[in-house]
Amino acid sequence: MEVTAGLHAFIWRNPRANNANTYLIAGKKNILIDPGHLHFFDHVVNGLGRLGITVSQVDVVLVTHAHIDHMEAVGIFGESTLTAMSRESFQFIEGSGGKIREPEFFLQEGTLTVGDVSLDVLMTPGHCPGSLSFYWPDRKALFTGDVVFSQGIGRTDLPGGSGRLLKESIERLSRLDVDYLLPGHGAVVVGKEKVKDNFRMVADYWFDYLD
Ligand SMILES: [Zn+2]
Repeated sequence: MEVTAGLHAFIWRNPRANNANTYLIAGKKNILIDPGHLHFFDHVVNGLGRLGITVSQVDVVLVTHAHIDHMEAVGIFGESTLTAMSRESFQFIEGSGGKIREPEFFLQEGTLTVGDVSLDVLMTPGHCPGSLSFYWPDRKALFTGDVVFSQGIGRTDLPGGSGRLLKESIERLSRLDVDYLLPGHGAVVVGKEKVKDNFRMVADYWFDYLD
């Protein structure tokens, strides 16, 4: 689905299998966020295909964090595609015995410009070490990975998780001016007031349990 101009969501809807949502920013360059599981990559191929885009036309793949349901498919891309994640994410995968294509570049806090699109790269740990969120100021769009969802937050009981850090990360994201909240799982949240309500609800419901 097209969320707004140049921003497409390939939402994973199958409740019987876990996989991440994938997002496409289609500007002068095609930027894909979280390619998901390798064995569900058809989901992405089909989503791109509906837009007339092939996998080899993806210029850059950005990974929010080191969990396999978000990043396993990075290895499928050819030489025409650059892949990127935080250095900490790559080290976390290697440290857990995972084998993955080495990113062409590492992401760090700051501005990333690809073609005519500039994204703010935000370090948002708590769910997973090295976890990133991406904010696209031109569209007021926020890609949160597994930090915050529609009516929910990321798990903190997995290796390297921290409730205290997750809370700080969510508080940081809640201060941004967001019209589109684009989480790694579940539905997108559209509309500034709905996004604010979602952050409020998440804080009311879960922050007491995060420390
Ligand atoms: Zn995760």
